[in-house]
Amino acid sequence: MTWEIAINRTIRNNVPRVYNVLERHPYIKDLALELRKAKLDVINNLEKYVEETVESVKRIGGIPHVVSDSHEAREVVTKIIGERKRIIMGKSMVAYEIGLREHLKRLGKDVWETDLGEFLIQLANEPPSHIIAPAVHMSKERAEELVREALGGLSEDATHEQIVARVREFLRDKFINAEVGITGANAISADTGSVILVENEGNIRFTTVSPSVHIAIAGFEKIVPTLPYAMMEALVQAAYAGLYPPTYVNLTSGPSSTGDIEMKRVSPAHGPKEFHLILLDNGRVKASKDSELSEALLCIRCGRCHLHCPVYRVLDGKWGTPPYSGPMGAMWSYIVYGNANHSLLCTHSGGCKEVCPMKINIPKVLERIKSRAWMQGKEVL
Ligand code: SF4
Repeated sequence: MTWEIAINRTIRNNVPRVYNVLERHPYIKDLALELRKAKLDVINNLEKYVEETVESVKRIGGIPHVVSDSHEAREVVTKIIGERKRIIMGKSMVAYEIGLREHLKRLGKDVWETDLGEFLIQLANEPPSHIIAPAVHMSKERAEELVREALGGLSEDATHEQIVARVREFLRDKFINAEVGITGANAISADTGSVILVENEGNIRFTTVSPSVHIAIAGFEKIVPTLPYAMMEALVQAAYAGLYPPTYVNLTSGPSSTGDIEMKRVSPAHGPKEFHLILLDNGRVKASKDSELSEALLCIRCGRCHLHCPVYRVLDGKWGTPPYSGPMGAMWSYIVYGNANHSLLCTHSGGCKEVCPMKINIPKVLERIKSRAWMQGKEVL
């Protein structure tokens, strides 16, 4: 029942807002089409673009790492962090994909999610149910109860604003004292090695700038050819998520630096002294070689397909292997976890395909995965 209330409120709040954004800013649809072309080029030449990105990151003073799977990714993060204890995280589905928070907790680190939705998920010890609003299955009442129990300091029947204010107060100290900030990336530009992150809360700004070490971790498919395309992806993603204009777009190119003395560029300055970019394969290269599956790599994680999908609603958001959910999640559960079962539940209503900014033919991709599931004799959910 809580889920039904929460999702109905979400649909009422979000779906009309996306249509309004697209009507008010008609150029967004053109940007999306242009972006699709650029991303197709990357997918068709994935390894070449990974190499270019690696060289660009080195050139700007960052440290690139290319990893093939979750285990290797966790090992690299563990080495970078070393003895450091205090870690803040934000905006990374790949971190969830590789089980990073739990891994760091097992190592005895003090780890906090800083995105409000992810923070609520951490408190509840539950998996995320939506790719941009991970706590979408929680009603305001449930979020209030969680925050009151974990942090205290909330009056009965607290408002949305009071809940957010209490979390803000708690996390302030974590932001200031963190030694390592871990983020994902909305896009990475191959030509400059820059990472773009789009957000509204301000937590990413803190996470990328406040600690002395910034680790960005992302899948290969987040690479776009040039910096303008990376900016484009941030704008298109925000618009189709219904959050346009985004409050913040963060651009990180290597560690902090200054050129204020004789214009000689030196590093670090006030921000991080180390910048690491971890690029993860985990099934992406294999998918890029398949004529139909490769379409899934175009996904910009806007989350629009979820709210137009009857299966996602009927299954209470529990469709896909977390953090990947909904129609995109049914595709991505196969790509990164090899789980084809979710595809079998698709009813091919086609709502996802109609609203996807990248024009991904999601039902066709799922049909492809379904045929593999049957051929492999997979157990149906
Ligand atoms: S599949 Fe399309 S609509 Fe769904 S999250 Fe990805 S880009 Fe957005």
